Amino acid sequence: MPSASPEITLNDGVSIPQVGFGVFQVPSEDTHEAVTNALRAGYRHVDTARIYGNEKAVGEAIRDFGLARDEVFVTTKCWNADQGYDNAMRAFDRSLAELGLDHLDLYLIHWPCPDKDQYVGTWRAFEQLAAEGRVRSIGVSNFQIAHLERLRSTSDVVPAVNQIELHPWLPQRELRDYHSAHGIATQAWSPIARGGDYLNNAILKGLADKHGKSVAQVILRWHIQAGNIVLPRTVKAKRAAENISIFDFALDAADLHSIDALATGERVGPDPDVFHAE
Ligand code: NDP
Repeated sequence: MPSASPEITLNDGVSIPQVGFGVFQVPSEDTHEAVTNALRAGYRHVDTARIYGNEKAVGEAIRDFGLARDEVFVTTKCWNADQGYDNAMRAFDRSLAELGLDHLDLYLIHWPCPDKDQYVGTWRAFEQLAAEGRVRSIGVSNFQIAHLERLRSTSDVVPAVNQIELHPWLPQRELRDYHSAHGIATQAWSPIARGGDYLNNAILKGLADKHGKSVAQVILRWHIQAGNIVLPRTVKAKRAAENISIFDFALDAADLHSIDALATGERVGPDPDVFHAE
């Protein structure tokens, strides 16, 4: 099965598949199977993190699947406890060794942790890693406008992406506008708001019926049409295939308008201004 997702070009010229496979909270022992299912379904982009504890299994699944290295886009993230120049350099080496790769596609600062005030030094390490060719693209995650502005005042390298919580209930309009103005791609984490009761929404069910798709597919299609990169996660093979089968229909202006009306600002994850778990 070839790649089932179109690609987006980042501000550094690197291409990234618009649909990636997330593995947050996938136990290490289940990760090989989950990633294999995803690759079988046509995903060519996997999003992990040091703190997820499954980098090794992600690397093994990709190797065992037998694709050439440049056919799979791999992202991992620098954890809060590893912030600062020296720590970040060491953390990168550890992650690369766990993944069993000789270079990474995308490395992200996982959270800004403003009270630690170390992300400027961490970013310097990222610039160094990119300059050495050990990572193709560097970016951030959970950065608010103030944190992005701070980086802008201290570095000439604009993050290629900002990976943020983003779904119809938290559309992040102001932050997305900032990204567009500065050439930063938006990656959506918890793109379906972690599923569950959110998928019982009557408006979304109506759209799903109209298009003969599932509610998850309607939400993911909404992201795609907005230009977001999405990282849905599932341990179920059928859902992995469902979540990437979103390129054979389109939402019209009225559909998009009715999804826009769902915004409440509620988060399913932590607030980046205060989150600093180690
Ligand atoms: P998602 O919005 O991807 O939702 C995942 C949940 O939805 C799982 O419980 C899954 O259950 C269920 N699900 C998946 N597909 C379907 C479907 N088609 N129908 C019904 N239910 C479905 O949430 P995540 O929080 O995992 O976010 C996705 C990814 O984003 C993460 O895996 C991670 O890579 C990244 N992330 C990044 C963060 C950051 O700080 N940078 C923070 C959080 C996430 P099941 O497995 O049983 O199918």
